[in-house]
Amino acid sequence: MRKILFASSEVHPLVKTGGLADVSASLPLALHEQGQDVRIVMPAYRACLGALEGAVEVASIKLDGFLLPVTILESRLPNSDVVLWLVNSPYHFDRDGGPYSQPEGGDWPDNAARFALFSRAIAALAMDEAGLQWQPDILHCNDWQTGLAPALIADKPDRPATLFTIHNLAYQGVYSRDEFDALDLDESYWAIEGLEFYSQLSFIKGGLVFADKITTVSPSYAQEICTAEYGAGLEGLLSYRSEQGRLSGILNGIDHDEWNPKQDRYIAQPYSAKTIDKKSGNKAALQQLFSLPNEPKTLLLGLISRLVSQKGIDLTIAAVRQLLDEGASVQLVCLGSGDAEYERDLQVLRERFPDKVGVTIGYDEALSHQIEAGVDAFVMPSRFEPCGLNQLYSLRYGTLPIVRATGGLADSVEDADGLGGGTGFQFELATAEAMLVALKRADALYQQADLWRKMQVTAMKRDFSWQSSALDYLALYDELMA
Ligand code: ADP
Repeated sequence: MRKILFASSEVHPLVKTGGLADVSASLPLALHEQGQDVRIVMPAYRACLGALEGAVEVASIKLDGFLLPVTILESRLPNSDVVLWLVNSPYHFDRDGGPYSQPEGGDWPDNAARFALFSRAIAALAMDEAGLQWQPDILHCNDWQTGLAPALIADKPDRPATLFTIHNLAYQGVYSRDEFDALDLDESYWAIEGLEFYSQLSFIKGGLVFADKITTVSPSYAQEICTAEYGAGLEGLLSYRSEQGRLSGILNGIDHDEWNPKQDRYIAQPYSAKTIDKKSGNKAALQQLFSLPNEPKTLLLGLISRLVSQKGIDLTIAAVRQLLDEGASVQLVCLGSGDAEYERDLQVLRERFPDKVGVTIGYDEALSHQIEAGVDAFVMPSRFEPCGLNQLYSLRYGTLPIVRATGGLADSVEDADGLGGGTGFQFELATAEAMLVALKRADALYQQADLWRKMQVTAMKRDFSWQSSALDYLALYDELMA
């Protein structure tokens, strides 16, 4: 049994802005189920304090660079026995708004301090300095919000082995030199082989430089980030760590209980690979929900996403517009929120094709399940995609993904061969034209119901549960401990 401290700034269902939250719940749970002593640490945001009313104070620590001590509250990950520690600093975390952004939008101005405090608390827990009588063998940090922790303990004797997972390299936690000074970090960190990044402080470099090993959430993305196109300025460092054998990719799994068409509490008609005909009941319900004509034989496309450039929302809008302009009979339902221009462009598309396009702007867990169950195909034309979860949910729901061949999308979706083989549709270039070709391939195949059915069943049988990915992490933990 290994002792693992799993550090993350968001954990489903407590606080979530994206896939990181899903992974931060389901991976620790899978490790726990495999007999590991895993404990999660996250900030005590207001939303967590509300949801975990029974949380008990178990420790108090004074952290360098911060005036007041923080307390550690202990609870359990909802619906599980996994120990959850909350870093409680009301001044930093007990406020309305998102984990990173203010209610009125825009990042919290004190994010550097908030996540430096979080990282210092993680480091203290990793060194068993909070008096909890528990020191992990492995500290597993995730994304820039935890990045300083591996740096802070790198030189300490008797420290745990450290692993840093990149869920999205586009978010790096970069701040000014003034912030660096304010955080009371040792001057030795201000170096290219430290936390400095083009005269600024980079939180993510703490993980990339100082962790014993680095992973990303798919094998393809692990290779892509070593190139200038995907490396976001860190490709040199990442190539170096890769050459050292310190960088690898492990594809995320999904929570098979949460995402299970056989017993999904949100959907109109549960179904399985054996009863896939029943999926049509969910399609009809979804068309009704979005006020679209009930057309069982029209290809219904789905989109659930943060509406940001990464996700190729503009490609979807342009390709679908072109397809509909050409008179194709397809429908599209969208759920998302994000950049105002994409929200507006989706609404414009809907106004132009009111009986073809449905749009909900917002974040809606139940609706996301209904879309996965109800649509025939799911579009994900990401410009880059560290792993991507929705294509995995889609596969499990017999909803064929149409994806750009990048990162985790390339690693999880097998391109249709036109004969019933494959589990979805891939295209290479990040252009509307390339996506349009893929949409047309999908529409043509959809008309061949037998072949489509065969692909659906193959997709539903693919195993993307956490069981196998968790074993890969365990093997890596063992390497680190050795
Ligand atoms: P990312 O983390 O880059 O946003 P992922 O595909 O890894 O992308 O994970 C996104 C997660 O967030 C999925 O669980 C997806 O269903 C969910 N999600 C994104 N937008 C919405 C939304 N508007 N409503 C409900 N769920 C959403």
